[in-house]
Amino acid sequence: MAQADPRRRIPRTDRVLDLPEVVAAREHLSEATVRALIQAAQERARAGEIAPEDVIPVVVEKLSARSATTLSPVLNATGIVVHTNLGRAPLSPAARQAVRDAAGYVDVEMDLVSGRRSRRGSGAREALLAACPAAEDALVVNNGAAALVLATTALAAGREVLISRGEFVEIGAGFRLSDLMASTGAVLREVGTTNRTHLSDYEHGLSERTGCILKVHTSNFRVEGFTSAVGIAALRPLADRSGVPVVADVGSGLLHHDPLLPDEPDLTTALEAGADLVIASGDKLLGGPQTGLLLGSRQIIQKLARHPLARAVRCDKLALAALEATLSGTTPPVTRYLHADPTRLRERAERLASLVGARMVPHDGRVGGGAAPGVPLPGWAVELPESLALPLRTGAPAVVARVHDGSCLIDLRCIPEDDDGRLAAAVLDALTEVGLRPPSGRSAIPTPPSGRSDAPTPSSGQSDRPSELMGDQTDRSGDGAGRPDRADGPEGRDPRVNS
Ligand SMILES: *Cc1c(COP(=O)(O)O)cnc(C)c1O
Repeated sequence: MAQADPRRRIPRTDRVLDLPEVVAAREHLSEATVRALIQAAQERARAGEIAPEDVIPVVVEKLSARSATTLSPVLNATGIVVHTNLGRAPLSPAARQAVRDAAGYVDVEMDLVSGRRSRRGSGAREALLAACPAAEDALVVNNGAAALVLATTALAAGREVLISRGEFVEIGAGFRLSDLMASTGAVLREVGTTNRTHLSDYEHGLSERTGCILKVHTSNFRVEGFTSAVGIAALRPLADRSGVPVVADVGSGLLHHDPLLPDEPDLTTALEAGADLVIASGDKLLGGPQTGLLLGSRQIIQKLARHPLARAVRCDKLALAALEATLSGTTPPVTRYLHADPTRLRERAERLASLVGARMVPHDGRVGGGAAPGVPLPGWAVELPESLALPLRTGAPAVVARVHDGSCLIDLRCIPEDDDGRLAAAVLDALTEVGLRPPSGRSAIPTPPSGRSDAPTPSSGQSDRPSELMGDQTDRSGDGAGRPDRADGPEGRDPRVNS
């Protein structure tokens, strides 16, 4: 006897649209977005993937999880502070508020007293100059790469940029300095060798065709051994004699020297050493929004600001608002996470470990964003089986852990303390999902393989740091530039298939 076609039981779109949950979702989602979700569920039912009776529950569940953007907030449990794949710097509370306020009409280019047009972004400019008094003037553009293009175009288009061969770098996935600058019409004139460059190399390279001398911080690698480079201060007399400006791309945007990162250059030191112009990103160690910062002599900044290209790389009002608030507000998260107290990290990791029935291991965080590649940030992680990485990433809230050497490591450095409870709940949910925790009972995480049995337990001292837990340094720039280390460099891999 033939059964009725089950597809006839699939609810019609009109009926689903009238459900109270769907009506409520339409307060913040467009009709087209809602209809697309309904149609997707109906199609799954037609294909036999779900029962016709499940269409409505599936739609309701999807709608409850769906905001108007598909970007999902993530808990960063990788221990990488400036994680490019996770949006680099998380904004400070002041910067978040500033973004919300600037989202409507805002006086970004108007003086409210006179009612006339004013200079765009003057608040951000003044905050930068207050934070870095070594600069005479400042300009904010879209990002660090745009700042570099604007500077080399305005100073050296049709002429030469003098650069040490040892500073000829690839900064992130597919971003090479050479390609970038070739697009500006400036010719790169390399001087010196990969490992050693002397002042005399710059002297010989200099000619009437030289538009600027460029120093680039080789942020994501180190050359060790028989090396030498010429600092900004040593180049100053040459620049003075020839009238050619010295431009320094310091990369990560530290305002002042930080003893935690001894080799990381900063804007103030570079200017005081004699750079005419310094360039940095706003969303690395400064801890602000994506911006490109240009600071230096008034004459050069004004030349850049007047260049036609400046309009093409100008900064958006949300970023200007967030940058000013980052500089004027309380310490941004990036700075707090870099300097997180290891004792406090240990207490929090211990608590999470005991809550979820796992063990704690020493774990080094990283600066990320291509900055300070060799600097470990000693801390602790909770060690879970690798199979937890996927349910954690796809759970609510989404948690991105570090997958390394067969383990899924939860590092609390970059988790706001207020979120420790949500993190623990997410780990327990993930353990339940992979069947390592009965709905009410304790988790049953298998003990690690025998090769790992000498790894320290929570009671062992911090000096006892096994090298296998120190991480694969070359993979951990957080810039997606190295070999993909799964959770912390997922570029080029589908994160859903990765565990
Ligand atoms: C990161 C970086 C850049 C590029 O800056 P973006 O803000 O990512 O465009 C340029 N130069 C150096 C040295 C960097 O580290």
